[in-house]
Amino acid sequence: MRRAGGLADVAGRRFDMLVVGAGFAGAVMAERFAADAGLNVLLIDRRPHVGGNAYDEYDAAGILVHRYGPHIFHTNSAEVFGYLSRFTGWRPYEHRVLADLGDRQVPIPINRTTLNLIYDAGLEDEAAAEAFLAARAEPVDPISTSEDVVVARVGRDLYERLFRGYTRKQWGHDPSELDRQVTARVPVRTDTDDRYFTDSYQAMPADGFTAMFGRMLSHDRITVLTGADFAQVRAAVDYDRLVYTGPIDEYFGHLHGALPYRSLRFHHETLDIDRLQAAAVVNYPDEAVPHTRITEYKWLTGQAAPRTSISYEYPSADGEPYYPVPRAENQARYKLYEGMADACPDVIFVGRLATYRYYNMDQVVAQALATYRRAMPR
Ligand code: FAD
Ligand code: UDP
Repeated sequence: MRRAGGLADVAGRRFDMLVVGAGFAGAVMAERFAADAGLNVLLIDRRPHVGGNAYDEYDAAGILVHRYGPHIFHTNSAEVFGYLSRFTGWRPYEHRVLADLGDRQVPIPINRTTLNLIYDAGLEDEAAAEAFLAARAEPVDPISTSEDVVVARVGRDLYERLFRGYTRKQWGHDPSELDRQVTARVPVRTDTDDRYFTDSYQAMPADGFTAMFGRMLSHDRITVLTGADFAQVRAAVDYDRLVYTGPIDEYFGHLHGALPYRSLRFHHETLDIDRLQAAAVVNYPDEAVPHTRITEYKWLTGQAAPRTSISYEYPSADGEPYYPVPRAENQARYKLYEGMADACPDVIFVGRLATYRYYNMDQVVAQALATYRRAMPR
């Protein structure tokens, strides 16, 4: 990787490709176009670092934290895992989350232990848990919203205790106003498996995400410029093709109106204790509590340190765009932008913001690898 010190270092230069955004989508595209296709690539980001939302850094206490909230790598794709393994070793890590109900903390996703802790139900096997849920489930037909998904599977009481408040805070919408895919991300189990994910690969990059990005981008044909917006760079350099991973509505000057992206405010803190909580992440479904979750980073990284660093997440409508908001009216608006994108053959739109999809990291990597293959037919 060649690091440009500022816009002046690249101004007037010619590149085969300009890649906007140095998150997973942009980094995979830059790596592939440089290392595989042999193109000269300029990769830019308006934030002062590479890694996008997955950026991690050592804080003042020497603890590796994720600046934009907890990022846990998990995938069922051998291709994605194999590709990233070229740039990092891994630390096996299975993620666990607790939901704080005020007087007690219970495992989420709902499993048999959750039911026994909340209802003192004494459920001893899967059949008993299944029957317990079936007796509470409310038939909903068709299942179209994020409320329907949960109520149809576990009933209204668990929905209200664990999902309604969290979702209203996180999205600024009631679950009944959100596509089913949002809460359908969280499974319901009748066994006692308390892992958040069940993917075949679950691991954290051994030296962190930022170090992994550093290795992906360390190529003679990749120049990286951070702290620079596309609006400034596009006029200053020459390039043949463009990869764009920022918000698609912004690219087209919000011609069809703004697409909503949900934002978060992160409050980071270091405490003078060894450990704060009993799991890496504790969720706060109570709508009266302003934050949605607290993350304790040592759980994710396995780092040993005498103190502990945590972050609170406060959802907000304004700020850095983090989440596309899965609602039919937003998808319809996105389709208008997608039509415009299809009419721009020299621009490749890829990633969570540019394709307005609620994708995990591995899905973005898979999308970028597939996009590259389509762009470089052999
Ligand atoms: P981004 O990482 O958003 O990168 C896009 C980049 O483009 C940004 O850095 C932005 O600054 C830059 N950019 C935009 N516009 C411009 C412009 N005009 N000029 C210059 N630069 C620009 N996924 C998981 O798999 N596991 C998890 O545990 C997980 N946890 C998450 C927790 C949170 C709080 C959030 C918000 C997301 C989480 N994700 C998780 C999702 C994950 O962050 C994304 O899938 C992934 O980072 C998306 O990569 P991307 O490259 O598409 O987008
Ligand atoms: N969710 C909830 N309660 C929880 C966990 C999740 O209501 O304890 C809902 C909420 O709407 C959340 C969605 O399920 O946004 C998806 O959860 P996930 O943990 O996948 O969210 P992410 O990590 O993407 O923020």
